[in-house]
Amino acid sequence: MKIPFDNSYATLPDAFYTRLPPTPVKAPALLAFNTDLAILLGIEAGDLGEAATLFSGNTLPENAAPLAQLYAGHQFGNWNPQLGDGRAILLGEVIGTDGLRRDIQLKGSGPTPYSRMGDGRAWLGPVLREYVVSEAMHALGIPTTRALAAVTTGEDIWREQGALPGAILTRVAQSHLRVGTFQVFAHRGEIKHLKTLTDYAIQRHYPDATSPMDLLRAVCAAQAELVAAWMAHGFIHGVMNTDNCAIAGETIDYGPCAFMDAFHNGRVFSSIDQQGRYAYGNQPNIAVWNMAQLATSLLQMAQDKDAAVEEATEIVHAMPDLLEAAWLRRFGAKIGLHAPEGDDRDLIQSLLTLMQDGGADFTNTFRVLGTPAARDQFTNRDAFDTWEQVWSARIAREPDPKTLMAATNPALIPRNHRIEEMIEAAVAGDMAPFEQLSTALATPFVETDSDLHRPPNENEIVPATFCGT
Ligand code: AMP
Ligand code: MG
Repeated sequence: MKIPFDNSYATLPDAFYTRLPPTPVKAPALLAFNTDLAILLGIEAGDLGEAATLFSGNTLPENAAPLAQLYAGHQFGNWNPQLGDGRAILLGEVIGTDGLRRDIQLKGSGPTPYSRMGDGRAWLGPVLREYVVSEAMHALGIPTTRALAAVTTGEDIWREQGALPGAILTRVAQSHLRVGTFQVFAHRGEIKHLKTLTDYAIQRHYPDATSPMDLLRAVCAAQAELVAAWMAHGFIHGVMNTDNCAIAGETIDYGPCAFMDAFHNGRVFSSIDQQGRYAYGNQPNIAVWNMAQLATSLLQMAQDKDAAVEEATEIVHAMPDLLEAAWLRRFGAKIGLHAPEGDDRDLIQSLLTLMQDGGADFTNTFRVLGTPAARDQFTNRDAFDTWEQVWSARIAREPDPKTLMAATNPALIPRNHRIEEMIEAAVAGDMAPFEQLSTALATPFVETDSDLHRPPNENEIVPATFCGT
């Protein structure tokens, strides 16, 4: 197997990372390999004989420049001055056939100087969860890191639940630059490094930007689009800490994330999110909060502080409008509106309120809207009938709303109970549910009669997700 590395992060100053190789594992075995992604990355996969040793870190591919990246971050609003890759190693970068530069990173590859109390490892459950969910997000058209490979290590990992099978994910990202990467240098007052980082981020992601404030504006726009896409698919990230907020605008870090079944604006899955800081409906606010932290970091470089503060404030204050516009465009499309207007917001909002009150399944309700099956999604059916009449009158003015809706509202999302089921099977050595789920989720807008579309029964509901990753 040949990986055509073209490494740029490793040319940045030593203060940005610690060079070290992955820690070898006992008995690597390949569980999954993403051939389509490998082709996009220009990797000559050939036969997959070497894949297990390469993607476990047991052998280093030619021209890799392995390193753990330094970063900091606000976790649940609390400042943590040093985080960094505690269990991940960046192998290097490749330039894909689409011309985009991407990182190839092993996650679960052993301890690093940033591991603190952690073991540097991951267990099979979260590795397969991230593999399936990140690839599903990609198929849904939501910007995301991707999964190239998953291996088991042949070693036990100790978590709350006891001994679990160890695994490593190969994650692919447009970069692993985070808000927290800027914060670490800003908080240390290392302005030279902050400038180097800013120039690097601009060149790599937003080459049209010519100043730190341009960068801020671009990241705000990308994050607004991203979070609106999450909202439109009922996705709850679960840990929107600043170290999990990617400058490139991709979804990163699939810890306790989940797609909602029944709609509720206050829905939280993560067992550690006691206050609901990262609840579904709070995600736009948090995105703005995170951008305020990026702004604060970037301001450290300003010559004229007052002017820069004014500009940064204006950029961050403009973000709720960007979020609102992206939200309206996406939810408008979900109910068949090509160019939603001001009044349409109320129409969408009243549907969401009905859904929340009536226990409606988020994905399936939008998918069947306009068919007789729609009212069956609700317990408050009379109220829904009234809404539907108003909506029907509104979409009568739209050209072909059905086609727009079918292309916007997926038939399939990775439902929690299916993911848990898939993990349980994989732990027992059965990869069939993983294959089945992955295959189905690759074409989420295609209608099939698969049972994967069905919301969980009472006894199948997964009430919480755990961070014990
Ligand atoms: P996360 O909550 O996954 O975004 O991780 C937050 C921080 O904890 C990052 O610096 C991770 O590298 C680190 N971390 C998470 N799990 C482990 C682990 N098992 N071993 C070492 N570091 C970890
Ligand atoms: Mg993280």
